[in-house]
Amino acid sequence: MNFHDSEKVAGSLVSQGYRQVQSAEDADLIFYNTCSIRDKAEQKVFHRLAEFKRLQKLGKKFAVIGCVAQQEGERIFERAPHVSLVAGSSSYRNLPQMLVQIEHGERATGLDDRNTEETFETEFTARTNPHRGYVTIIEGCDKFCAYCVVPYTRGRERSRTSESVLEEARRIADSGLTEIQLLGQNVNSYLDPIGRKSFAELLAAVGEVSGIRRVRFTTSHPRHFSRGIVEAIDALPTLCDHVHLPVQSGSSRVLSAMAREYTREMYLERIEWIRAAKHRTISLTTDIIVGFPGESEAEFEQTLTLLDEVQYDGVFSFKYSPRPNTPAIAMQNAIPEEEKTARLATLNERQREIQRANYARHVGEVMEAMVEGHQPARGQITGRTSQNKTLNFTVPEGMSAPGVGAYVPVRVLRSYPNSLVGELADAAENGNLSATRPAPEHQPRSEPVTHSAL
Ligand code: SAM
Ligand code: SF4
Repeated sequence: MNFHDSEKVAGSLVSQGYRQVQSAEDADLIFYNTCSIRDKAEQKVFHRLAEFKRLQKLGKKFAVIGCVAQQEGERIFERAPHVSLVAGSSSYRNLPQMLVQIEHGERATGLDDRNTEETFETEFTARTNPHRGYVTIIEGCDKFCAYCVVPYTRGRERSRTSESVLEEARRIADSGLTEIQLLGQNVNSYLDPIGRKSFAELLAAVGEVSGIRRVRFTTSHPRHFSRGIVEAIDALPTLCDHVHLPVQSGSSRVLSAMAREYTREMYLERIEWIRAAKHRTISLTTDIIVGFPGESEAEFEQTLTLLDEVQYDGVFSFKYSPRPNTPAIAMQNAIPEEEKTARLATLNERQREIQRANYARHVGEVMEAMVEGHQPARGQITGRTSQNKTLNFTVPEGMSAPGVGAYVPVRVLRSYPNSLVGELADAAENGNLSATRPAPEHQPRSEPVTHSAL
């Protein structure tokens, strides 16, 4: 989401007559987009700002945007006096006025707009991903999970009209991109403010935009995850075979302390719905926090048994990080840092073995891959499957290498816990894709793995 915010901010500046350059050294005005989801990300911001100070002598100006900007506000001017602009994501639509202020040598802030009903829509988005167009469908979050800064930094939930989402999807298709990723903190809380379309209906409508071959979405909240979403995926070949459904913990007691609004049993019921898709094998990935205040050994063990039960294809795992303004920061029974580190290592080890077995099941299949890039040094092409798995492949002699953006059949020859390796298959094999969908013209991608932040 931050990545796409940067694309929109850059697009908005370009439409004001600014020109985007490749390095901070070449710029007159440097925008720094920030994340405060965990402590480490936030500390990085102040280190980076200190590094930028040397550029001030060259007459450059600095703007800090994103969640650290919203959270720290004018304190940023105290800690980094070379900064001229501080703005949170709800204020980006006012950037043109703020830019006029800083061009006149004044300081500008955009920190007071979190209750706005408006979303940040730009006439022009500087798209920097060569394969995929990101589309924000809902901004902010009303959930207030006990550990999370997002509702404080990004403000309340507001959905865009389905008409404007579809218009953007059509523009993306017209520009030649074939993949769309719908974005929101909770995409399934989406409700069209005019047409009353649900998220599942919007998803299906985007999947029908001519020229679009793959549609992805992040992130879904388990509380509002509906059967309608699974039915849409099952029915429309353009919707990818992948759902990212963050669970956070396998213990209902911890989930309640986190204010997640579902129990382990409710979560597993949604997994059943996803597994029951008739025409697809939908890949599942999740987010997990270890060491939430008060998490006992037995409760952590319940998270491990949940991994065994669900058999995810990828997990983004995090040590709990205390965040300002959140209820969890005042909770008793903090888990010591070394214990959090040990739990994270145990979790990642267990998940690695699950992924090793999951990925190995693809050996021998022919899967459709979208070509993302060429790696001449390794003699490989990087592709991605509908399930969002990396599928690197070679091209047999006599066959020509497909270009970036092409959709091709690949026979899987080997597997690792985070990727597959194969060989380009004959185009005729496209009809025999043993993968997971009923012989569509294409197939989408996914990028699951065990990622440990912090
Ligand atoms: N809206 C999404 C949801 O509810 O699942 C999550 C969005 S959040 C930006 C991404 C992930 O960061 C969360 O799923 C959670 O695992 C992790 N996260 C958020 N706050 C955290 C904290 N204080 N400490 C550790 N991890 C955190
Ligand atoms: Fe944060 Fe997601 Fe909870 Fe919202 S739903 S508060 S973004 S973890």
